[in-house]
Amino acid sequence: MSMPEQRRILATAIPGPRSLARQAQRKAELADGLGTTMPVFIDRAGGGVLVDVDGNHIIDLASGIAVTSVGAAHPAVTKRIADQAERFTHTCFLVTEYDGFVDVAAALNRLTPGDHAKKTALFSTGAEAVENAIKIARTATGRPAVVALGHAYHGRTNLTMAMTSKNVPYKQGFGPFAPEVYRVPSPYPYRWPSGPERAAEEAFATLKDIVTTQIGITNVAAIVAEPIQGEGGFIVPPPGYLKAVQEFANENGIVFVADEIQTGLARTGAMFACEHEGVVPDLITTAKALAGGMPLAAVTGRAEIMDAVAAGGLGGTYSGNPVACAAALGALEVIETENLVARAREIEERVLPQLEELVTPISVVGEVRGRGAMLAMEFVKPGTSDPAPEVAKAVVERCHQQGVLTLLCGTYGNVIRLLPPLVIPFDLLDEAVDVLVDAVRSVG
Ligand SMILES: *Cc1c(COP(=O)(O)O)cnc(C)c1O
Repeated sequence: MSMPEQRRILATAIPGPRSLARQAQRKAELADGLGTTMPVFIDRAGGGVLVDVDGNHIIDLASGIAVTSVGAAHPAVTKRIADQAERFTHTCFLVTEYDGFVDVAAALNRLTPGDHAKKTALFSTGAEAVENAIKIARTATGRPAVVALGHAYHGRTNLTMAMTSKNVPYKQGFGPFAPEVYRVPSPYPYRWPSGPERAAEEAFATLKDIVTTQIGITNVAAIVAEPIQGEGGFIVPPPGYLKAVQEFANENGIVFVADEIQTGLARTGAMFACEHEGVVPDLITTAKALAGGMPLAAVTGRAEIMDAVAAGGLGGTYSGNPVACAAALGALEVIETENLVARAREIEERVLPQLEELVTPISVVGEVRGRGAMLAMEFVKPGTSDPAPEVAKAVVERCHQQGVLTLLCGTYGNVIRLLPPLVIPFDLLDEAVDVLVDAVRSVG
């Protein structure tokens, strides 16, 4: 099957009649707790477009939330999936072994920052990888406590909900949550009370104070941070913060875990976002872009920490499924051979200046930020930094009507994030950005 035509086509209103009909059935059949950003049903996808059941070609600035970095139907991925599925779909790696699992682990050991000895364990979802990083860190240190940041997002399981900062919709009504999770402030430059230039130093001082006086250093197993906070609003930590936290962790026998589930594997213009600051984490969690759309996640890190858990303590029925591993080998090959790290930087150079033009003292755009192909705009009431989620929502809706898929994020729901597939053709990207900029100007 060939790639869908790489251009925006508005065949009907969005959503069109077929999507609307399916929507009615969905309403009857599906739990209301499953939300949807853009209510269209997809028939085909690939490169930079999603084709819906009404024939609309929608430009993809979401990548299924940073998953389809190589596109949703890259032949290097789909062919390996088909070949592997024909050979076998499952054995359970805990029962009998296969090559793909070991090959993905070797690739992650090679690609992640640091030249120390590394080992990897594979899982199915990001939340599961974060949970397992904590299991490993607790066993390695013999300590219980976990430190997470404000505005953090780590998943929807019980422990990762506890580590996630935002209440609605992720936590409301779902408690009680796992104990021994402590929160320290995120050094959110745009919203730091004493100004962005004070954020790194003051946030780090607060972390140190909380760890030392409230938790006790010898009780802390892990400090977990996203090198750029994703769901929380694409918050780029101020220079020096992550490095200070990493050094503090290293000096005190605490495992420093970088949650690179959204930022990892070329998305930010580096293979891992930690590299922008020369930070070498003890453990790294990956998932989203790892397997070109198949469910696969990993914990990779220092061999001596990874080996702390005895045989049988890690894994799961589907962990490192062979079809998902085959897809990952294809996706990683594309990321490396098509140099998607450089491609992400080109996307930043192309898009960021256009978004920055929207920031003025009286604009609804308070800040534009991000790295590589992980870019965002924060919407505010003009002349203030008060969040304006209704404006962000109106811009997103306008983009959707025009056939451009954009996503919201942020603790205050006022951030539009751009996560295009890294392989998106540039003319398509330019067209999508034009639609977005027009939408901001007309709504603002
Ligand atoms: C998406 C995400 C997760 C959770 O991954 P799932 O596969 O949805 O469980 C964890 N951490 C970060 C930073 C994420 O972006």
